[in-house]
Amino acid sequence: MSLIEMKTPLVEMDGDEMTRILWQMIKEELILPFVDLKSEYYDLGVKHRDDTNDQVTVDSANATLRYGVAVKCATITPNAQRVEEYNLKEMWKSPNGTIRAILDGTVFRAPILVKGITPNVKSWTKPITLARHAYGDVYKNAEMLIPGPGKAELVFTDENGKETRKTIMDFKGPGVLQGMHNLDSSIESFAKCCFTYALDTKQDLWFGTKDTISKIYDRRFKDIFDDLYESTYKEAFEKAGLTYFYTLIDDAVARVMKSKGGFIWACKNYDGDVMSDMVSSAFGSLAMMTSVLVSPKGVYEYEAAHGTVQRHYYKYLKGEETSTNPVATIFAWSGAFRKRGELDNLPELMHYADVLEKATISVIESGVMTGDLALIAERQDVQKVNSKELLQTIRREMEKELND
Ligand code: NAP
Ligand code: MG
Repeated sequence: MSLIEMKTPLVEMDGDEMTRILWQMIKEELILPFVDLKSEYYDLGVKHRDDTNDQVTVDSANATLRYGVAVKCATITPNAQRVEEYNLKEMWKSPNGTIRAILDGTVFRAPILVKGITPNVKSWTKPITLARHAYGDVYKNAEMLIPGPGKAELVFTDENGKETRKTIMDFKGPGVLQGMHNLDSSIESFAKCCFTYALDTKQDLWFGTKDTISKIYDRRFKDIFDDLYESTYKEAFEKAGLTYFYTLIDDAVARVMKSKGGFIWACKNYDGDVMSDMVSSAFGSLAMMTSVLVSPKGVYEYEAAHGTVQRHYYKYLKGEETSTNPVATIFAWSGAFRKRGELDNLPELMHYADVLEKATISVIESGVMTGDLALIAERQDVQKVNSKELLQTIRREMEKELND
């Protein structure tokens, strides 16, 4: 069989611990036998980040801006314990944070559905993709304890020194106070990413805030989305048979619970933080959540939503058998290949991405799966396998499809 050709390299960001082991296995079993892989490799393993004073993380993000598509392995975000464990020079920042600061953009998370593992919400038959705005609001707030009576005011001083004031509260006794902000530019880029991704993945877009109560702040989000939709995206949405709608966050939540799924739910920062945990746990497993960073600069970075699965790695180091689920990492690769295929007009590469995903799902649906899924699967005759065995089973399934 001849290998499938690529044109432009993928930016490959390797990572840490158990997911680094899976990364290698996935390449050996599911990629290199089928694709003439072109990638520009960046080692974001914590030791190499330390050796390069984290320059490698910056370089990998810049490469993504040049090439357009990256695939990333989970990485350690150092804390005090990790600094000691790996003898690091510094407590380096979160690589995802560094990359996001360079690429800008919105993270879209969606579960991978398989038959035999039913979401806790019975009506959900299609994935719900959650888009979380990741700037500002309560995450960049200023707050204080109010010790006793006094007046709290909101004061804005413009460039010329002119003040605008509003009373927040005439405190008669102790209490608390908080100030927060957002930026038109950030809300606009969030909205652009959401509209573009909805068109890309052919899904409706829902957006909700609390604009009945927050008549200026939340209203600004609604207006920016509405204006951009009318001026730029409406025609494309109508052509694609898609809808965008805005509703109160309360109504959005109620509708989500009664929906079938199959849409993108855009959330403000706090709503997205809370709702993504609800949506992902209701769908089943963190090991089945995909994640893609869509940048308004038109570039994409695919990864798994979970971390480096540290507990499994320590068992692996002791020579014990582990059954770590590689599915979200496989889908990071397939997502990246499909996007590369689209951008470079390579139907064979897109087909390979489809086959890789279909084979993965069909193996699990046939009852062969890792331990985390075996625990929640409905069928009784589950065959629990280790990561390597799962990948080999998927490979055999792919060979049937691709070697014809
Ligand atoms: P984690 O790696 O997501 O794992 C938490 C637990 O979830 C695991 O112990 C395991 O449960 C289960 N799990 C997650 N992924 C799994 C998989 N693929 N297969 C089977 N089980 C899976 O989170 P963590 O242990 O809290 O974090 C470890 C490291 O990851 C940290 O250093 C953190 O900085 C980093 N992290 C990186 C990213 C990223 O790069 N995007 C995201 C989050 C965390 P059991 O142990 O019960 O089997
Ligand atoms: Mg959270």
